[in-house]
Amino acid sequence: MEDTNRLTRRGILQVGSVALSTAASLTVTDAQEPVTGPKNAALEAQNPDSVRSPETDSGTVSPFKYSFALARTRIGSGGWTRQVTARELPISKDIAGVEMRLNAGGVRELHWHVEAEWAIMLYGHARITAVDQEGRSFVSDVGVGDLWLFPKGVPHSIQGLGPDGCRFLLVFDDGNFNEFETFLITDWLTHTPKEVLAKNFNVPEETFKQVPSKELFIFQTEVPGDLKAEQMQAAKGTGVVPRRYDFRTSELKPAKVTGGGEVKIVDSKNFPVTPIAAAIVRVKPGGLRELHWHPNADEWQYYVSGKGRMTVFAAGGHARTMDFQEGDVGYVLQSTPHYVENLGDTDLVFLEMFKSDHYEDISLAEWMAHTPHQLVDQHLHVGREMLAAIPAPETVITPL
Ligand code: MN
Ligand code: MN
Repeated sequence: MEDTNRLTRRGILQVGSVALSTAASLTVTDAQEPVTGPKNAALEAQNPDSVRSPETDSGTVSPFKYSFALARTRIGSGGWTRQVTARELPISKDIAGVEMRLNAGGVRELHWHVEAEWAIMLYGHARITAVDQEGRSFVSDVGVGDLWLFPKGVPHSIQGLGPDGCRFLLVFDDGNFNEFETFLITDWLTHTPKEVLAKNFNVPEETFKQVPSKELFIFQTEVPGDLKAEQMQAAKGTGVVPRRYDFRTSELKPAKVTGGGEVKIVDSKNFPVTPIAAAIVRVKPGGLRELHWHPNADEWQYYVSGKGRMTVFAAGGHARTMDFQEGDVGYVLQSTPHYVENLGDTDLVFLEMFKSDHYEDISLAEWMAHTPHQLVDQHLHVGREMLAAIPAPETVITPL
């Protein structure tokens, strides 16, 4: 209704523009900006639902999108990284994300942090290492689609393998996580008196004279040696961690497959070590991740590929639709309803991440199907036939 009025007024303005004074023309043109001509055509083309929202959008909803393309990239000798945290996207209090690229041989240096680290490999191969509180080791090679989980406080490293290193997404269970302020082995040793280091290891102080004077963070070195040999050396005397820190999604059957797409759920039921639940969603062109909400946690989204849109209904008559594509982060507060629609001509692949050890959702369709139909029809007047035809199990991604 509002847009139609604007268009009509603009039509009248164009006809009468010669008669208008310059000042009046400028004032009115500014108010018409979304219709008369975008100021940032590239950005507005990526966000058609912001330029002209669906008529069902209403009121103010806090922004729930930020793009990694806007995040500052920190480049090291062995690769690069950038992060989207609660500092960039204030609504995202529970989860933060980091993209990282490591060249073959490039190392994200030995470090740890307060938060748990979940990751998914998006390109190439990497070797990951960790040591648990019993001194037990974990060394593994991971490839595209593989996940890992380093429990909170567990020290670890990531290194790109041949032929071309790797790229991956890290997810942390605290929106205020900061990848640039983790506990680094070089930074710690730099800030410990050399005589204390000597006493700690019972060696001469000169042993530490070549420790870098500044943190390495991401640095280039040679690719690691044979995996089995490194595993054996690291496990000497203490063995390996009892529950693996990696997970092969390629070996996991989808929780649901429909004509519209498929979803894989990875949580503590099949990956016991994780305090972070994940749904890996693939929606075919025209498909819809159906209207639903998550009663147990906020949802942090990462768009891997494709183009889509999401409407978040924030109660009290407030609703907002935003558009998403590769490298975008979305965020939906706990129990707040939403859908994700594939508007592109390729598969829309995205992650739903939760600060919870298990996945939960409730869909509008399953709620309606399993509530007395007379009562539902008295609200919506959709007809009892429509209600009876809703599939008993949740559809997840339409069409069936
Ligand atoms: Mn880490
Ligand atoms: Mn969801």
